Amino acid sequence: MSSGKLVLFSGPSGVGKDTLLEVLTKKRPELQRSISLTTRQRRNGEKDGVDYFFVTPAHFQELLAAGDVLEFAQYGKNLYGTPKKPVDEWLHEGKTVILKIEVQGAEKIKHLYPQALSVFILPPSMEVLERRLRDRGTEDEEDLARRMRIAREEIRKSENYDYRIVNDSLERAADEFLTILDTTAIQ
Ligand code: 5GP
Repeated sequence: MSSGKLVLFSGPSGVGKDTLLEVLTKKRPELQRSISLTTRQRRNGEKDGVDYFFVTPAHFQELLAAGDVLEFAQYGKNLYGTPKKPVDEWLHEGKTVILKIEVQGAEKIKHLYPQALSVFILPPSMEVLERRLRDRGTEDEEDLARRMRIAREEIRKSENYDYRIVNDSLERAADEFLTILDTTAIQ
């Protein structure tokens, strides 16, 4: 039985989850971020073992077959998954573990860990979201359109989350998240 807290952190691509997580972990260095596996190409500036573990589809399948993946989902053309062992260990050590994860994965984890706290980050508007994605300049038009389509779907499903936070200002959104974390009794 684990004693730490598991937090599911979701939101559409481009909403600012990574920047928000950076602010959060600066404010609370004890928060433990899980590093996911992905088969997608590394973006400029991303580091293997820091942003993701970048793996081949074959390696991903091997890890799945070995039971080393807690949950996984296909997003666009790529697979994303949470390595199981570190999460189990951190929870066992009593840590608060944050999984940055899309909605299908979050649903699976909620079944495995019903006590997990789920938080969905919303953009101030769809226009702002599209502008942020375009300004990032890391996706081609096809991928961008796919991400916007998935975003609309995810936002519809976000009603199932325990909390929804609008990322209108980084500091304000970070403070709202920390207040939720501090006032919610989860195990
Ligand atoms: P990106 O390609 O923008 O880094 O991530 C695409 C989506 O995959 C995001 O919604 C992100 O939260 C999600 N994601 C990242 N890691 C995982 C994971 O381990 N499992 C699942 N289910 N989704 C993930």
